Amino acid sequence: MEHVLPKLPYSYDALEPYIDARTMEIHYTKHHQAYITNLNAAIKDDANLLELSVEQLVSNLYKVPENIRTIVRNHGGGHANHSFFWPILKKDVEPRGDVLTAIEKQLNGFEAFKTSFTQAAIKQFGSGWAWLVVNGEQLEIVSTSNQDSPLSAGRIPLLGLDVWEHAYYLLYQNRRPEYVNAFFNVINWDMVNEHYVAAVG
Ligand code: MN
Repeated sequence: MEHVLPKLPYSYDALEPYIDARTMEIHYTKHHQAYITNLNAAIKDDANLLELSVEQLVSNLYKVPENIRTIVRNHGGGHANHSFFWPILKKDVEPRGDVLTAIEKQLNGFEAFKTSFTQAAIKQFGSGWAWLVVNGEQLEIVSTSNQDSPLSAGRIPLLGLDVWEHAYYLLYQNRRPEYVNAFFNVINWDMVNEHYVAAVG
């Protein structure tokens, strides 16, 4: 199947002032679309790969022929990560649900989680992502480089933050910590909780 850009579940300005409309438009229509276009071009002649969802592709990179594995890792990862990212963004949702209980129990409370996640996002050198993932039933905070997906390491993502400069440079320039801090105002905790319940249920 040919991969297509998923519908953005809100308008470009929905996350203002934390994420600006111009960044959202370029990020979604140009960057995300480019990952999809490049992924489709790489797998277009491989009937086996065409049957897999992008999540299945990045979860099973060993199944991808070596000559296109890096392209699938980068562009398939880019498609999977951005498809995951858009729906976990929403304003005015308080942390709640089973995932909040798990964060409080396993990660020494919500404030400690916030500090650890922020550090993971700030310290990721160059392009990449910070994640809250679940490994079995254990919550972990990790970062990945470039467009690597936690799925490739057998982790299920619950929350992710894109720290590529394209995600924040227009509004925040070099001030990644401000962008990371603002991100905590646009987390759709109900969606994060859905991911958690699906992963451990
Ligand atoms: Mn991005």
